[in-house]
Amino acid sequence: MNRDYDVIVIGTGPAGFSCAMQSSKFNKDALVIESHQEYLGGTWINSGTVPSKALREASETILGFNDQFGDEDHKKPYERFRMADLLQYKQEILEKENRKVKNDLIKNEVDVARGFGRFLDEHTVEVETHFGTTETYTADYILVCTGSNPREPENFEIDGDKILDYKSILELTHIPRRLTIVGSGVHAIEYATTFSALGTRVTVLSDRSEVLSFLDHEIKEQLQLVLDNKNINLKTDVAIQGVDFNSLRNYTEVTFTSANDGDRRQVLETEHVLYLGGRKSNIEGLGLENTQVEVDKEDCIVVNDDFKTSSDSVYAAGDVIGFPRLTSASFTEGRLAACNMFGIPALEVPNEIPYAIYTIPEIASIGLTEKEAEEQELDVSVGRAYFSNIAKADMTNHTEGMLKLVFETESLDLLGVHILGDDAANMIHLGQSVISFEGDVRYFINHVMNYPTMSEAYRIAAFNGVNRVFKAGVKYQNILEDK
Ligand SMILES: Cc1cc2nc3c(=O)[nH]c(=O)nc-3n(C[C@H](O)[C@H](O)[C@H](O)COP(=O)(O)OP(=O)(O)OC[C@H]3O[C@@H](n4cnc5c(N)ncnc54)[C@H](O)[C@@H]3O)c2cc1C
Repeated sequence: MNRDYDVIVIGTGPAGFSCAMQSSKFNKDALVIESHQEYLGGTWINSGTVPSKALREASETILGFNDQFGDEDHKKPYERFRMADLLQYKQEILEKENRKVKNDLIKNEVDVARGFGRFLDEHTVEVETHFGTTETYTADYILVCTGSNPREPENFEIDGDKILDYKSILELTHIPRRLTIVGSGVHAIEYATTFSALGTRVTVLSDRSEVLSFLDHEIKEQLQLVLDNKNINLKTDVAIQGVDFNSLRNYTEVTFTSANDGDRRQVLETEHVLYLGGRKSNIEGLGLENTQVEVDKEDCIVVNDDFKTSSDSVYAAGDVIGFPRLTSASFTEGRLAACNMFGIPALEVPNEIPYAIYTIPEIASIGLTEKEAEEQELDVSVGRAYFSNIAKADMTNHTEGMLKLVFETESLDLLGVHILGDDAANMIHLGQSVISFEGDVRYFINHVMNYPTMSEAYRIAAFNGVNRVFKAGVKYQNILEDK
């Protein structure tokens, strides 16, 4: 049957963008549909990854300058810098990234339809435009990559003024003196360090007994040190009872109990509350009932390893299919969906993907933690390097944190890398390469690496690890020989 397009992509976040680009490189006709009136790029460019990281970078620059050269007249950053300038910086980056996406789509002859897409059947999408008109398009394949949206808080409402969420925090008109973040995930801890760098007194209220429980235990200890140094107050096991504005005292009041404090009622005075709860897949109004597409009990679209849904012509990728809900992974998922639709052989997403948390300083990890390796009954050893022992860290004044290698004691095979420190998100890729080529920790000893760099930590951690193995009396002839 002759259809309008080879593929229709609903949503222009990283999953949609990469699927459209890859399809166009296969000489396929592609249409992307985007419901945002002004911008392409989804949460990736407009409310998530790019703006939050642009703000983080600006805050880190301010913090670094203050740490190195002192704070002029003992002024806090919020007395010297204006939120408007930070937001302007973020906005310029956001516009730049948007232009790049738009230009790439134009250059690759991908058509764009503006409006809300909805399935009429498994090959047909109706688009309701912002002018109230509808257009209908057909395609051999359709990719759903409509992303995710924040869940609403249970005991209070976001007003976009005193009580903020993912979007309204990006419109804040001033640097707050006090900020209370309600949330337990990665973004809560990231925003906590971003605002703390601006001099804001930050409290994080988490309903869990432990935050970021997936981290290696030593990295978590390092994170706690970082939070303590920054006076970020992290309260766990919290149940929020309400958030109200006290006009007499001109403060927002958060009422809560915590099992750690005997469940007594507490009231916290703060300037703003930032709610960063969980996220839910964007499937509302998509017309999935007109298809065979299945969703699970969390409302995530169910896909197989090829990113195909229960319908042969419908694929899904990115946040809408659930974990890991990252831009990094969404790029790969969208590209692989395109390869699978058109029968082009492609590698699967590797099991070991790197994770980064953009706190100040950053956290990154890949592979097994020490505890996970032990739970699998592997005989593992670890090697550690503290950044306070790295020359580059002294030069850049970034001595917080450590790099930890987890490896098999007998073979020295690298199983995991865990870093807390400056540029960790970037540094993790060296460990990722060694793991994916099934290398062992001798790589970091036998290869010359640039000096001074933060990557020197790999060499020091490798020496630390093999020295420990040697001292433990494990039999080997010469650790520098080939296996
Ligand atoms: C604060 C924050 C910080 C983050 N930081 C990072 C980070 O540092 N690193 C990282 O890897 N990830 C990060 N993420 C996660 C990342 O933003 C998401 O995983 C990623 O954007 C998901 O991509 P996607 O393609 O699935 O959807 P999205 O980027 O959300 O794009 C979906 C698009 O679909 C459109 N759409 C929805 N429904 C329809 C419809 N019916 N018709 C037409 N269009 C529709 C939306 O308007 C949107 O443009 C962060 C997220 C948040 C919230």
